[in-house]
Amino acid sequence: MTMIPAKMPKLVKKIFPNYVWDFFSEARTSSEKILYLTFDDGPVPEATEFVLNELKKYNAKATFFCIGDNVQKHATIFNKVIEEGHAIGNHTQHHLEGWKTDTKDYIQNILEAETFIKEHNTQKLFRPPYGRIKKIQGKQLRTLGYHIIMWDVVAKDWRKDVSEEDCLKNILNHTVSGSIIVLHDSLKALKNVKYVLPKVLEYYSNAGFRFEKIAI
Ligand SMILES: [Zn+2]
Repeated sequence: MTMIPAKMPKLVKKIFPNYVWDFFSEARTSSEKILYLTFDDGPVPEATEFVLNELKKYNAKATFFCIGDNVQKHATIFNKVIEEGHAIGNHTQHHLEGWKTDTKDYIQNILEAETFIKEHNTQKLFRPPYGRIKKIQGKQLRTLGYHIIMWDVVAKDWRKDVSEEDCLKNILNHTVSGSIIVLHDSLKALKNVKYVLPKVLEYYSNAGFRFEKIAI
């Protein structure tokens, strides 16, 4: 998505009420301040390793939306994500864009990725690559028991034209308790993530927030 806003507009959330955009209502009923960090496109040894080490420093848990092909290629680092107690979600086998993909092929690609992650994706979490998914695809996935996890705040960490400082601002300016935040454990985003993630963990920990994995 090129025109993607850092903060997901309320209107979009309203138009697609069957997708999960945030956990605001859960956060309101809790006395604690909670954030949900999510990392897409991994596992990739160098990037995922960095993310895991940073999370560990703050005893933070996160949700990793994995590309099946990467899980297949990088089993060691995938197992480390599991061992460290994070949640796993499906991000298709080959990072397909839903709008451009025939629904049958799209679902098949997701089921292929599922064969590599199914014992760890017990909640059946799915995030569409690029945030692009046809209504019919979403409907079929929900019939298969998937929760479609979108987001509230996106750092735009993968974009070469977005500076490290602006990535950080995208998070700091828009995050509230219950926000689902998108980052990436990919080589493309690593430069920005190396700058942003330690600062986000430090800032919100000091402000009394906990970092939780998605549990539906
Ligand atoms: Zn992705």
